[in-house]
Amino acid sequence: MRAVDIIAKKRDHGELSRQEINFFIRGFTRGEIPDYQAAAWAMAVLLNGMTPRETTDLALAMAYSGGVLDLSGVVPLAVDKHSTGGVGDKVSLVVAPLVAACGLPVGKMSGHGLDFSGGTLDKLESIPGFRTDLTTEEFISQLRSIGLVLTGQTLELAPADGRLYALRDVTATVPSIPLIASSVMSKKIAAGAPAILLDVKVGLGAFIADLEEARSLAELMVSIARQAGRRAVALLSDMNQPLGFAVGNALELREAIETLQGGGPPDFREHCLVVAGHMLALGGAADDELHGRSRAEKALHNGQAWERFRALVAAQGGDVSCIEDPKRLPTARFIRQFMAPQAGYLSQIHARLVGEATVILGSGRERKGDPIDHAVGVIIHRKVGDKVDAGDLLFTVHANDENLLETAGKEILAAHRWSETSVEPLPLFYGAIR
Ligand code: URA
Repeated sequence: MRAVDIIAKKRDHGELSRQEINFFIRGFTRGEIPDYQAAAWAMAVLLNGMTPRETTDLALAMAYSGGVLDLSGVVPLAVDKHSTGGVGDKVSLVVAPLVAACGLPVGKMSGHGLDFSGGTLDKLESIPGFRTDLTTEEFISQLRSIGLVLTGQTLELAPADGRLYALRDVTATVPSIPLIASSVMSKKIAAGAPAILLDVKVGLGAFIADLEEARSLAELMVSIARQAGRRAVALLSDMNQPLGFAVGNALELREAIETLQGGGPPDFREHCLVVAGHMLALGGAADDELHGRSRAEKALHNGQAWERFRALVAAQGGDVSCIEDPKRLPTARFIRQFMAPQAGYLSQIHARLVGEATVILGSGRERKGDPIDHAVGVIIHRKVGDKVDAGDLLFTVHANDENLLETAGKEILAAHRWSETSVEPLPLFYGAIR
């Protein structure tokens, strides 16, 4: 077999066999197939697609490109969660401790942000000392002891995805349904949890903007999970406007802390309760998602979820005093409020433009490995559907550079659109795929 023939077959709309996919992924993981051939192949897949069978074979080939964890002897049933990426998406910071507080262990390997979308690891790394590089042994031991882990992906899990994702990021081959589905599911299968909640983001600030395409992606991922012997539920959730109010690492962490302490923005809090409800039902800790939601609400009110988050931070070496007193988290030097230039109903707060503006401030990376500024970002104060008067507070920019503050402020203002007539608020979810 030759890599060039496999690339040509996909270029010519052919269907790759399992043997061809395994050959390609094995060769790429070992460094025998170079990046330029993998990039050409990824573009052929993006342009010509894959059948569900090919996508499942690709997910499994990438999952088994390294070790696959077996958590069955560690905890009775662990549940995992994955978001396909969005703006202001700090859901894991709240949901993981919430679900763990309800007695269902959560072992989650997260990623750093890329492009306009944020990453859970960057938010957690706003806490001085917090370790996101646990070894597999530490992951297992902490899952056993406190029932909660949020860390980075270890090198030995799904290494093919790690390499391919980095390549896709710089070759414009991220927004492909088979490539996203196989990338997400390879990591989830390798991380070992038997139950998986998939938060499939759809809209202007997601990798997939079209609802029907997002539904296909969700169905495909649930089907891959089933074929790998795992249970999965996928929620289709809105990502047209930022989730909650905060976008930027320490700002989002503060908002997650407020939510864990019973406050937080209403849309974000509701989103977390729904996701937690589904996770609890999926993991057998609730009769159904509504029962799960009410269990989660109780754990938020009685402080157990917050306690679990404190335990997580302590276990991973983070400075607990910083989450107890969030003023001690990284704080920007320049904080400026921006007012509404006109009256009307907000019809759009373009999530991707807001995400890109926070990257300009330094909250994200243009390239993998770039340093980031945890303190900077934006707090939006209004949501789609809100009525605003000219001069009302619209958003607040947190920056460490005054010129960048100006630029980002203009971009975020341009992300807002007005209507003279009333506008319906955006829904949080568009459905669930089981
Ligand atoms: N998240 C992933 O893990 N992989 C993708 O391809 C896109 C989003």
